[in-house]
Amino acid sequence: MYICTQCNQPVPDPVKNKCPRGHLLYDRHLLGHTQERSFGASFFNTLILCIVLFLTTTAAAALLKKSTGTWAGYILVMFIVAGIIVLFRGLKWKRQGGAVARLAPRATGMALACLLTGGGLFAVGITLGLIR
Ligand SMILES: [Zn+2]
Repeated sequence: MYICTQCNQPVPDPVKNKCPRGHLLYDRHLLGHTQERSFGASFFNTLILCIVLFLTTTAAAALLKKSTGTWAGYILVMFIVAGIIVLFRGLKWKRQGGAVARLAPRATGMALACLLTGGGLFAVGITLGLIR
């Protein structure tokens, strides 16, 4: 089910990704469409995305002979920041109540995956001395 965050209404039949009043069914905090998704599905999708993103950027940095450790550090900090932002968005939706509250599990799932990959890989990187 799609949710319009501006009308706070479910949109069963979106037309061109818009609600009947013409709002775009997209949220920049979710980096995607405001479609209801379970906590677990959101968590695993984000987890895979984060890992792929991390591996491709560090591989690209290594190929370009940039300081890979610094790059990896930046990316992981970005994950953590994104995780905190989406976590607060999810809590706000939950407090707000109504249809948007149905997006909260998706936001918290995404937040947890971002924080886990960011924090986890950062801890590993520091331990192994890969991030400086
Ligand atoms: Zn709307």
